[in-house]
Amino acid sequence: MSNVQTKTDVILIGAGIMSATLGSLLKELAPEWEIKVFESLTDAGEESSNEWNNAGTGHSALCELNYTSEKADGSIDITKAVNINEQFQLSRQFWSYLVNSNLIGNPKDFIMPIPHMSLVQGDQNVSFLKKRFEALSKNPLFKGMEFSDDPNKLKDWVPLIMNGRKVTEPIAATKIDEGTDVNFGSLTRMLFDHLKTKNVELNYRHSVKNIKRTSDGLWELKVQNLNTGLTEYHQAKFVFIGAGGGSLPLLQKTGIPESKRIGGFPVSGLFMVCNNPEVIEQHHGKVYGKAKVGAPPMSVPHLDTRYIGNKKALLFGPFAGFSPKFLKTGSNLDLIGSVKPNNILTMLAAGVKEMALTKYLIQQVMLSNEKRVEELREFIPDAKGEDWDIVVAGQRVQVIKDTEAGGRGTLQFGTEVVSSSDGTVAALLGASPGASTAVHVMLEVLEKCFPDQMNAWESKIKEMIPSYGMSLSDNPAFFEKIYASTSHTLGLSEKESVYN
Ligand SMILES: Cc1cc2nc3c(=O)[nH]c(=O)nc-3n(C[C@H](O)[C@H](O)[C@H](O)COP(=O)(O)OP(=O)(O)OC[C@H]3O[C@@H](n4cnc5c(N)ncnc54)[C@H](O)[C@@H]3O)c2cc1C
Repeated sequence: MSNVQTKTDVILIGAGIMSATLGSLLKELAPEWEIKVFESLTDAGEESSNEWNNAGTGHSALCELNYTSEKADGSIDITKAVNINEQFQLSRQFWSYLVNSNLIGNPKDFIMPIPHMSLVQGDQNVSFLKKRFEALSKNPLFKGMEFSDDPNKLKDWVPLIMNGRKVTEPIAATKIDEGTDVNFGSLTRMLFDHLKTKNVELNYRHSVKNIKRTSDGLWELKVQNLNTGLTEYHQAKFVFIGAGGGSLPLLQKTGIPESKRIGGFPVSGLFMVCNNPEVIEQHHGKVYGKAKVGAPPMSVPHLDTRYIGNKKALLFGPFAGFSPKFLKTGSNLDLIGSVKPNNILTMLAAGVKEMALTKYLIQQVMLSNEKRVEELREFIPDAKGEDWDIVVAGQRVQVIKDTEAGGRGTLQFGTEVVSSSDGTVAALLGASPGASTAVHVMLEVLEKCFPDQMNAWESKIKEMIPSYGMSLSDNPAFFEKIYASTSHTLGLSEKESVYN
């Protein structure tokens, strides 16, 4: 027992990129509000946001083929790709604001320019890629994208992938130099360092066990202090559940009607990491392939140059798998514990619908290292097993809910902000496109939870994020101006930008 009892304006649960972003936005918009953060682990950015737990792609649909689909008439639907790119532009603008205002340090510590490429083989895939390229090239957000089906040109772009390859079927790639590698772990830590200077109270090794509403309309959190073993009670007017995979169980504890009939489907991940500096040096880019039939979109294989700890690294994966844990540091009872009377039918329906996916994920878990190297050889034909080690990536918990389009128990691959009707509690569920779109998603939290303040906040939001509320695709001149300025601030314009 303990008598620690506090009252505050805002509590952020979890010290990942989402809480870091929301806290940073709020400190600019309402600096007088008191904010407390509770995090189970010893530091910020240790779960999915950690640099080794995600792929570090600044998702802006420059290379991810699953963001564009082929319609029945053979044309390409680029709506999702454009939306994701627009959302990433909001992140770039907010990060630039923080750098320009000296609120965070050197952008090179969290973002680096890197070409984004898509690579496919076979007639059908090459035709899809070409059509995708033609459709995207018409949009100003994708200016500078190149297409090639000439193996010699591809050798220039991706020598490691083309050397030793017998080209027996059509092969093609697109390349755009304007891509980024983002170290979300580093960015999260930088944002929390900044929040500390703004008197945000950071409580590490504090695990939130329960959330309930008090009679005077506040939220009371039961928190276990893992340093002392004591239980504390903290109250707030507004609570953000940014606990990553741990968000669903906490949302369920609030008992709000919006938390009902929602389930979670955990997907684990593994990366192969190259330990041979000579191989690492031969590659420069993030190269995304096409998902195998039956594979979930988040398991699209890619070969990525990464910048981790200011060193170049080369990662391949992620290999998706099944684990009942909701967090990498979670428990094997997480999945079963999330099944409640109000979501059991939704979960069972998803279980029946997603049998093929579950089977695929279990097969992936059973893959031997040799089989993984075989998959790697589809990218690097002469890859040697001894050059690669395995690291366990973060967990993603995909949302399961009943939808009009998909019916009962439909698996969602995006992110969802779930909030109470009075806007006093909000949770972020799902993990895709993820950290790259944190600013867009946290703006959505503000819009849903603080509608009465939005008018007063709008001019500050526009100062920080000039394109807030507008479509950059429809305003190419404004986009070019904003893009050139964020490229400059974030140190992304080493090469002459196509927008200059
Ligand atoms: C394999 C993989 C690859 C990915 N690749 C990309 C990519 O290339 N680009 C991209 O943009 N995104 C990517 N993502 C998604 C991205 O990593 C996540 O969307 C993002 O990190 C989620 O941030 P978060 O703050 O919500 O969660 P997290 O970073 O997981 O933070 C949640 C925090 O809450 C804490 N917590 C949980 N429960 C409690 C509790 N009860 N009490 C107190 N604290 C608690 C956890 O310890 C954790 O620190 C990837 C994810 C995975 C798993």
